[in-house]
Amino acid sequence: MEENKKREYIGVKELGSLAKADFCPRCFWYERHFGPFPSFFPGIFNVIDRNLKNSVWQTWRREKKLPSWLRIKNVQRVLTADKIGKVEEKHRQKYLVAYHKKSGFILRGAPDLILELKDGTLHIIDFKTARFKEDDDQFLPAYEAQLNGYAILATKFSVSKLSLVYFNPLLETPDEFFTGSRFKLSFAPQIISVEIKPKLITKLLMEAKEVLSQKTPPPARENCRGTCFYIDKIRSV
Ligand code: SF4
Repeated sequence: MEENKKREYIGVKELGSLAKADFCPRCFWYERHFGPFPSFFPGIFNVIDRNLKNSVWQTWRREKKLPSWLRIKNVQRVLTADKIGKVEEKHRQKYLVAYHKKSGFILRGAPDLILELKDGTLHIIDFKTARFKEDDDQFLPAYEAQLNGYAILATKFSVSKLSLVYFNPLLETPDEFFTGSRFKLSFAPQIISVEIKPKLITKLLMEAKEVLSQKTPPPARENCRGTCFYIDKIRSV
């Protein structure tokens, strides 16, 4: 019973925030104790995401191949999460879960696409509707952690490849953009290979554990000009 009490879920996306250069331990502490801050994430991204996944599954079921926009070689099968690891359902979505003994966390996540390659290993893919900014991409470390988290969750297979597929928005002329009473947005897919880092997830989970073991919120992030900056200023008057 006591052991179960110590086990907490942590999402791979949430864990990815610890890999970012601007990670704020105080933010993380607050969110874990009181729930996530309000997010104004536009719903359109969920629609794009769902359509991309449907496009892959429909083409695979119909033609036993990937859609033409997804140029990935040596694919044997497209797999569902339950084929590659332990699955739990939450809000009608299936998540892979795995208990990480050292930290006491249960890692949880749902990859966008799981491909079994001809050599029997997995290629796990995540879609990002964003422009890829190479080394300047502040989210890349978080995405790398996310994909490495999925690799840990794939307990029934060995994972040989991790990739991000960025959907770069294309700049179009007004004539191309508007057709009659409709407008269309176009995106160009770009596949970015991500390094497999076997120790990364344990490192991040242990860091998360350390932050959350503190009884009071950690200090504000240095040079942050967010709410804490103003609260600290008011307090110091
Ligand atoms: S306002 Fe800044 S220091 Fe405060 S919790 Fe948010 S990110 Fe951290």
